[in-house]
Amino acid sequence: QTRAESRPFEADVSRLLHLMVHSVYSERDIFLRELVANAADACEKLRTLALQDHALLGNDPDLRITIAADPDAKTLTVADNGIGMNRDDLADALGTIARSGTRAFLDQLGEQGDGSRLIGQFGVGFYSAFMVADRVDVVTRKAGESAAWRWSSDGQGSYTIEPAGDDAPARGTRVVLHLNEQSQEFAGGAAVERIVREHGSAVPVPIDLVEKPGEAPRRIADGAAIWAKPKSEVSEEDYANFYQSVSGQFDAPALTMHWRAEGRHEYSVLAFVPSTPPLALFDPLRKGRMKLYVRRIFIADDIDLLPGWMRFVSGVVDSADLPLNLSRETIQESPILGAIRKGVANRVMSELEKLADKEPERYAKVWEAFGAVIKEGLYEDYERRDGLFKLARFATSAHPEGGRSLAQYVTDLRPNQTAIWYLVGDDAARLKASPHLEGFRARGVEVLLLSDPVDAFWVQTAVGYEGKPFRSVTQGAADLDAVPLAEGAAAPAAEPSAPVATVLAFMKEKLGDAVADVRPSTRLAESPACLVAAEAGPDRGLERILAAHGR
Ligand code: ADP
Repeated sequence: QTRAESRPFEADVSRLLHLMVHSVYSERDIFLRELVANAADACEKLRTLALQDHALLGNDPDLRITIAADPDAKTLTVADNGIGMNRDDLADALGTIARSGTRAFLDQLGEQGDGSRLIGQFGVGFYSAFMVADRVDVVTRKAGESAAWRWSSDGQGSYTIEPAGDDAPARGTRVVLHLNEQSQEFAGGAAVERIVREHGSAVPVPIDLVEKPGEAPRRIADGAAIWAKPKSEVSEEDYANFYQSVSGQFDAPALTMHWRAEGRHEYSVLAFVPSTPPLALFDPLRKGRMKLYVRRIFIADDIDLLPGWMRFVSGVVDSADLPLNLSRETIQESPILGAIRKGVANRVMSELEKLADKEPERYAKVWEAFGAVIKEGLYEDYERRDGLFKLARFATSAHPEGGRSLAQYVTDLRPNQTAIWYLVGDDAARLKASPHLEGFRARGVEVLLLSDPVDAFWVQTAVGYEGKPFRSVTQGAADLDAVPLAEGAAAPAAEPSAPVATVLAFMKEKLGDAVADVRPSTRLAESPACLVAAEAGPDRGLERILAAHGR
């Protein structure tokens, strides 16, 4: 028998564990949700592999999760007969944190005090076991392999791996939690059942509960695919539970979309718009949050099913037509998947438009959370740009609080106003106070105030809305003269008077090549002067943003 080998945790894991153990978490319950989710993933992975190699299921083809409480031993065990782990898998999975964004997550955990809401989103789920346990044993045997392994740790900086004894599962993983003093309640069936009902009833694998050693298992969740049920059989609560398990978030969905497409391609979709932004939303990888199933079998969660700007939508697409035995590459290129992508994206788009139309207040919250992402579509999703212009909401000089649509802007055009004016910058407060707006205010012309980084990009490529071009107020001569002054505004002089002409000549001489021109303007009402970009050159705000990004 080999001696147990002890290895240190990666530094980030130690940091994470320290935070888990030493912070007070209001929602300790989530450890079970995390372990159940891992067990369900392990079952789904095996189910997928078994499509190619049926022998992996052996004589135990019914995949399931078994949760066993032992009040006397003060343990709680979460077992699955899924894929299992070998020695290398164990060391990779339960000693390191592979995911991108983990450091950002750790920083947030540190700041927030109560980070339990953040844990599920970052793939650090397993380690949440140390919130309730002072020792965790993982005994596991990988499907198709003969060796079994035991991983064990008290969460204090290192773990051990050694060959497991005869009590190892025939296949799959058993996670044994030796519950700490404050967490004894979790050794009872009642607490387990409550948590599974609240957080785990939507996992796509059945869950059995053993309340005391020696008792027969009792099924507490059926593992039925909620998306395959008719809407009438699904309650709001079921939707909310499933949303939390599929998204790893703790909020309620802002929008639930559940439908079945029939006709040329048949598929079911259950998708959600969260009410609070997921943490990794602006991760440069722009990863989607939709899972692909084929006839209830999990295929992948990293195939892009929606355009990048819809990456805040999470959920499931289950196709009835895709062949099960395709490789990922073949699936990616399949015309069926292409059609599904288009169908799902169009439907999400129309659901958003419907919400914006029918329930503007609810929509306003969605826009507040995801507007900056939705606007990415304005420069990369040409097909849907018209629809996106309908969805977009803006802060403007007349409505700095935001919520203005382009349709409203265009309805309120001033006489002779021919363009949609905008001002780009990185700071909303500074935009509001910009001297560039003075002449526009004097004429009652509304100006879009664009302060999201993405704004600088889409305005460059947008041709116009309803025949009105987008124009920057900082660019070239703003031909405002044709627009009548608003009531009470002072009329600027038409021709520069003699003293003004003298000043202009003096400034041109002094500034020399530093400027292209110095000219009188009707765009200012209070400030003496402002810098403008040439008509054809890049926008001032864009120049500044590009400079900030080192380009
Ligand atoms: P995540 O589940 O988000 O990947 P976790 O920290 O919860 O993050 O788990 C890390 C990894 O450990 C998983 O990705 C998986 O490879 C492995 N793992 C955890 N639990 C199990 C299990 N019950 N069966 C097989 N592998 C598991």
